Amino acid sequence: MILHVESDADADVLDLREAIEREGLRTRAVRTSRSEAVIRCIGDTSVIAEIVSTRTGVRVLDGDCPYPLVAAHPGQSRTAVRLGSSGVSVGGESLAVIAGPCSVENRRQIVDTAVGLREAGAHALRGGAYKPRTSPYPFQGLEEEGLELLAEARRVTGLPVVTEVMDTRLVGLVAESADVLQVGARNMQNYPLLDEVGRVQRPVLLKRGPSATVEETLLAAERIVLQGNADVVLCERGIRTYETATRNTLDVSAIAVLRERSHLPVVVDPSHAAGRRSLVPTLALAGVAAGADGVIVEVHVSPDDAITDANQALSLDDFAALMPRIDRVGRAVGRPLLTRAPCVGGAA
Ligand code: PEP
Ligand code: MN
Repeated sequence: MILHVESDADADVLDLREAIEREGLRTRAVRTSRSEAVIRCIGDTSVIAEIVSTRTGVRVLDGDCPYPLVAAHPGQSRTAVRLGSSGVSVGGESLAVIAGPCSVENRRQIVDTAVGLREAGAHALRGGAYKPRTSPYPFQGLEEEGLELLAEARRVTGLPVVTEVMDTRLVGLVAESADVLQVGARNMQNYPLLDEVGRVQRPVLLKRGPSATVEETLLAAERIVLQGNADVVLCERGIRTYETATRNTLDVSAIAVLRERSHLPVVVDPSHAAGRRSLVPTLALAGVAAGADGVIVEVHVSPDDAITDANQALSLDDFAALMPRIDRVGRAVGRPLLTRAPCVGGAA
């Protein structure tokens, strides 16, 4: 049984847990936002109703829901996930845009891209240091050196950094230098990895697997939150269908369904869905129109030279042209673009 507690005081949660444990049950608690927590009760739950009846702000969540921690319960507020110490949130009133190359390639490429993105109004920098490549032969990422270059790009621009982690053994290392840990589509059902990113205090951007249902995606998020990390951002990046005209099929309806079923923010990745740069802006706007809380998009200082995913990379000019269009569509659905990323790091 899962209890929802409305309180910003950890003492309230502890007090409730102790009352339940005195009745012989075991409990596990997770703070899902500054003002809300959930308590999982294991054991004979017949005593719970009476304990709860004497307390305000405590209610029993739908016991049939397979993902009670990430489900949107009536009256519950939506979660906004803060990206590092930047002051930028995904899931607030405004749209956030995360942009950058598929891979970190060298110092100049990542710093020049980041500076250009910052000027165009991006809120966070993405870039892979560890790349999940289908073939084991080509470039697999700069690995640790890539992490250092991302940290440098953050120092120069103040943009928080989103980067993928693929290996449980590297979660600590990646979390030391990145602001947000990306769990890639291929790893959405890597359960040890989900558990591991759930144990660190870094937001997680969880990409939907290419063949995963909405429910499986929410269960993957539930696994992370259950470990104690409530800062999860969901990402629709296209699924595998019979259609070959695009790299993947952007499941626009999944964005609406995820927002209906969960309080977690949802971003759209038009790049891996489209696979071709000409389609990327259209899919980004479709995602925003469907209710996405933000966009994550691949941009490269010299797109044709990108080592990975060159076909879908936008140029900095393409990106600068897309931003006001995202703002216009966002405004039409009540979510304007976050105007400017507060500069924390340095001289941009
Ligand atoms: C990426 O973001 O570069 C990436 C590999 O994405 P996905 O996991 O969605 O394929
Ligand atoms: Mn990519």
